[in-house]
Amino acid sequence: MSQRIAMKTPLVEMDGDEMTRVLWQVVKDKLILPHVDLKTEYFDLGIKHRDDTDDQVTYDSAQATLRLGVAVKCATITATPDRVKEYGLKHLLPSPNATIRGVLDGTVFRKPIFARNVKPSVPAWTKPIHIGRHAYGDVYKNVEMQVPGPGLAELVFTAADGQVTRKTIMEMPGPGILRGIHNLDASIESFARACFLYALSEHVDCWFGAKDTISKTYDARFRDVFARIFKEEFQDRFKAAGLTYFYTLIDDAVARVMKSSGGMLWACMNYDGDVMSDMVSSACSSLAMMTSVLVSPKGYFEFEAAHGTVQKHYYRHLKGERTSTNPMALIFAWTGALRKRGELDGVPELGRFADALEQASLGTIEAGFMTGDLARLAAPAPQKILDSEEFMSAIAQRLSGR
Ligand code: NAP
Ligand code: MG
Repeated sequence: MSQRIAMKTPLVEMDGDEMTRVLWQVVKDKLILPHVDLKTEYFDLGIKHRDDTDDQVTYDSAQATLRLGVAVKCATITATPDRVKEYGLKHLLPSPNATIRGVLDGTVFRKPIFARNVKPSVPAWTKPIHIGRHAYGDVYKNVEMQVPGPGLAELVFTAADGQVTRKTIMEMPGPGILRGIHNLDASIESFARACFLYALSEHVDCWFGAKDTISKTYDARFRDVFARIFKEEFQDRFKAAGLTYFYTLIDDAVARVMKSSGGMLWACMNYDGDVMSDMVSSACSSLAMMTSVLVSPKGYFEFEAAHGTVQKHYYRHLKGERTSTNPMALIFAWTGALRKRGELDGVPELGRFADALEQASLGTIEAGFMTGDLARLAAPAPQKILDSEEFMSAIAQRLSGR
């Protein structure tokens, strides 16, 4: 075996649950450890250990990311009453992703992985569309009310000094519904910075759309904050990198994206990002071909797969079945983290290894060897459908040039 690549700074490793926890170990053993002298600070975010530590381990892993800068995370179970019963938990734990996002103040970016023989259902998309979703406020933190009959609906703001501002929403002529939503300048600024940093890091243009023609204060605020942050902090760096920032009305953004060849970051307000990321991921084959990275405005990165713990496959695995669960997004979470670590530490060999592992993984699929989820979509039809272990062995062979 040739010499393994040495690392300077450890990655924060956040282990997880179910089928992805099983695959996590195989990805490390078969694909990474033979080539990299892997250094990580390990945190077990498996649901039982989160529960045993009263979720302290999740906070600790997020704090470690603030200290070390780059994390790689396995999918984790978000607790529900059913899961509390299934695992005999003390607590209905909060979502680890929400906790980590809270500590890092981050924005989540998603990017599909393209293989030549698994085409997106929108033929024009020859390059991946990256989606950045603002994960704070709007309808996700709304206050709603049903009103039983006629009356006056008002928006009232009482400032810290007691001064009151009010606006009529509607003189309701009959029963109906009301909703109050908000956002914060600080959060919009962080979102804008994270988007511009990500676009530079991935070397893609940045598009942003909002409904500012109708929402002349709320959505217009997003437009203006983006314009200001871009002008003050990013214009020169974008110019030097040959990249552009493009703002347009959200309707126009949607229409243009459908006709584009892809290859841009599409920054979305919270609801738009929720809906559009599902559209882009389903149009780009399988959830298992979508990576996700949390970027904080201070430049911390946490890489993960966009999918969950693949619970159904795990139950089959527990019965002794060999499942054909696709590890691509997990592999790309590791390569993303190793490449970023190499970039920050000045260890270019890590970046070259990440490229080689991604090429070997895509090369395996493009040669017709893949897991079941892709086999349904591949053209031409696959040579062979492999189970997860066989697929990773095929990648490992290709990687070591055998
Ligand atoms: P999921 O794990 O994403 O799986 C949903 C379905 O998508 C699977 O049953 C499978 O379809 C297909 N799929 C997803 N990933 C795949 C892969 N790598 N290879 C092949 N097929 C794949 O979602 P879920 O089953 O709704 O959620 C399971 C758990 O994950 C939940 O406890 C949830 O809280 C958690 N979750 C965690 C995260 C995260 O940590 N980021 C994100 C989402 C969900 P078929 O069964 O048809 O093969
Ligand atoms: Mg959604």
